[in-house]
Amino acid sequence: MSNLYGYSLKHNLANISTPMISTNVLDPNSKTESKYLHSKTSAFPYTRSSFDVAPAIIERSQFAHLFQKGNSYCLFHSLTLRMVYGGRLLKELFSVFENATPIENVINNYKQKDSLDVLKQVLSDLWNYRLFVKNSNEDVWLFKNLYKIGLNQSEIQHMYLLTTAACNFRCSYCFVEDDNRDLLQHHMTQNTAKAALTVFARLSKNSLNPRVMIYGGEPLLNPRTTFFALLFFRQLEDSGKIPNKGNIALLTNGSLIDEEAIRIFKKTRTTVGVSIDGPQQLHDKARINIHGQGTFNEAYRGYKRLQNADLNPGISCTLNAFTVEKMDEIIDFIISDLKPSSVGFNLPMPRIGNENGYSKLDHSFAVHQLISAFERLRKVGIYEDRMMRRVRPFVNQKPHFKDCMGVGGQIVVTPNGRVGPCQAFFGIEEDKYFPLNVKQLAKLRNSLSSSNIYSDQLFDEWRYRFPFNMEGCINCFAISVCGGGCPYAAAVTHGSIWKIDDRICHQAKNILEWMIWDTYNQMKS
Ligand code: SF4
Ligand code: SF4
Repeated sequence: MSNLYGYSLKHNLANISTPMISTNVLDPNSKTESKYLHSKTSAFPYTRSSFDVAPAIIERSQFAHLFQKGNSYCLFHSLTLRMVYGGRLLKELFSVFENATPIENVINNYKQKDSLDVLKQVLSDLWNYRLFVKNSNEDVWLFKNLYKIGLNQSEIQHMYLLTTAACNFRCSYCFVEDDNRDLLQHHMTQNTAKAALTVFARLSKNSLNPRVMIYGGEPLLNPRTTFFALLFFRQLEDSGKIPNKGNIALLTNGSLIDEEAIRIFKKTRTTVGVSIDGPQQLHDKARINIHGQGTFNEAYRGYKRLQNADLNPGISCTLNAFTVEKMDEIIDFIISDLKPSSVGFNLPMPRIGNENGYSKLDHSFAVHQLISAFERLRKVGIYEDRMMRRVRPFVNQKPHFKDCMGVGGQIVVTPNGRVGPCQAFFGIEEDKYFPLNVKQLAKLRNSLSSSNIYSDQLFDEWRYRFPFNMEGCINCFAISVCGGGCPYAAAVTHGSIWKIDDRICHQAKNILEWMIWDTYNQMKS
């Protein structure tokens, strides 16, 4: 799903490699690797300060991964996200320290052919960045610490408010149009919206950045409740019940943007996103109305109305097997015409029971296209959300534990007031996937906290579902930029939320490799 909240790091990310990255580059073409580039280091809590205290015998961390491009190498730590670049020497040290090895022996062996200073500096960096460790206990200690941090990222700070189940479009890839749903076309009442927002205010009272996303169906099919919710959110904020940094956003198909909607959005400082899949011939491929006609004109008109009113809308663009091949046309259109505040590319979600084009998409090709799009968009200062989820942790050297807030920090409220972790299960086994209810939660008044949410079995299971706790992910080099993707997609394609979301798995691995070599190129140039 798209993120419409903007990017505070925007200005630091024109290139991925910024002074924030503490990365060393050794010249792979030099025999002695004497051209040693060292950038400013940032304070990562798990980085060591000095090689002087290293023990006499050390070994390679199990989280150290060696990447190669031509005759260049990068040794990357999958947990600290620290890197050392180099050539032959780096590659050889990676092998030499596979098992516990005395440092002195290695120095004696190598000082004949390599500069002693460089050798010591490389070993020092490998030690300081925890690429080399005293023994495996250090790896275990680091992993456990990060696991705890990830698990504790569960305070509720985000709410999806589904103000209606109805939609006036019938997009062919829409995953709710499947065989298993019982979707009554009903709208949320104002009372339910009021109860949901009040509950959310209590749950997020300690959050620095509480966010509400108004969603549907098409939320503007129920303008009464949607507008009420926007206004009530700001009322709660004005009365101090939601902290000042609260953000309210709305995702719409754009077809129902009128003067009244614009007036309310302005008054409530709503962040608005419009679903537009590219220029008309691409958008109309999948985004059709109930009569099977393309919807581009309606979406585009609504988008431009918002833009002309200085509302600075973002766009949410879903790719399919056809449009992903035309990425350049989409990017041309975004840069020259839409000029959005933010862009989020979505890949189709798998649909239960009947095909929606999900299986036709070549995920490797889609990642390649996403990377090319990012390279073009960053040049004009537009930062795409899907890529930024991998770029931010890489640049900040802080693991991204959870790609989906359903696994920690989010509630979703359906039109009838049921509460669950994920909106994609809307209409499926409500008692199972939406086990709570805003009216019951509201009765807890000021004693309500996130722990009430996680005392429910479903919410509690979901909060443990992140790569640091998933089979097959622990030794993955992309574990700290991945976040585990979408549990719903994993459940639909593989039968369990604990399985891997193949779309995001592909993305995370490929994007990480791209970032490693993009950084290298930027630092060398
Ligand atoms: S499980 Fe998937 S669809 Fe559901 S909230 Fe998470 S990312 Fe979104
Ligand atoms: S989902 Fe894939 S990319 Fe992500 S951590 Fe697991 S194995 Fe790695």
